[in-house]
Amino acid sequence: MKRNKPLRCPYCNSVAILRSADGIYKENKARAILYVCSKYPACDSYVRVIPGTKIPAGSLANKALRALRIEAHRYFDLIFQTGIMSRNAAYEWLACMLQMPLSQAHISNMGEYYCKRVIEESRQLIENRQIINERWRKRHYMRKAAGGGL
Ligand SMILES: [Zn+2]
Repeated sequence: MKRNKPLRCPYCNSVAILRSADGIYKENKARAILYVCSKYPACDSYVRVIPGTKIPAGSLANKALRALRIEAHRYFDLIFQTGIMSRNAAYEWLACMLQMPLSQAHISNMGEYYCKRVIEESRQLIENRQIINERWRKRHYMRKAAGGGL
């Protein structure tokens, strides 16, 4: 028989408790369920579950790490939202860049170090792409102004 080990808080090693996000989220319209450190609110650490399951969507995170993960996701999502890559290609790039298997390349599992790298590398990728686009646009306009077509 497989025995499931209880999920523990990575900060204080207390057991994490499965409960509603009511009273933790400002609003919980989506009725999110969380794994919350049993020392909450003294230890402000939790993670939501994948909707409809009891599977944690990542590792428990404190306030600072939650904020960092949100920021990392915002930068990373821009890569496919702006069409630089498809979503799948962006995750492949992420796994390759961080040298981890694709199955582990999820921001919700990442600690501070990896989140910061995701932010930095995504930002650079987007900036470089913008510079390239800018150059292309300038050349295109110059050619048009000179009366040349494509
Ligand atoms: Zn804790």
